[in-house]
Amino acid sequence: MSHRTGSAAVAADPPSTLEVPPDIVALLALPGLEGLTDDQVRGAHCVWCKAGLTADTAVDFGERQTPLSGTSSAHGMRWYPRACPKCTADRAHRGLFDHAPSCEQCTDVAERCEISRALYRLVREGRR
Ligand SMILES: [Zn+2]
Ligand SMILES: [Zn+2]
Repeated sequence: MSHRTGSAAVAADPPSTLEVPPDIVALLALPGLEGLTDDQVRGAHCVWCKAGLTADTAVDFGERQTPLSGTSSAHGMRWYPRACPKCTADRAHRGLFDHAPSCEQCTDVAERCEISRALYRLVREGRR
């Protein structure tokens, strides 16, 4: 007698924080630390528009290390930028325009470029 599990294993993403890989974050042109509030540095507020964020809406850029200007420290400061989906979509859209013309894969078949796909995904998320 074999026992089978009835439910198909569908990997459903929980509706939680969207995480963005570092390669993609690099294309979104995060602001410098100068001029950011403490809340923006710790990820409580959007790095661009300063909107308050919740775990449901925030887009997570992961831990960043940015050298502070005017210091000789090689380590820089750790911070945890997050943003609202709308601002992220905006930047992702611009990132696509910057990326595509200089990417061989994009000028060939854009759907095969992982960077372009990841940016498109962020644009779509922000428009829901
Ligand atoms: Zn925002
Ligand atoms: Zn590309």
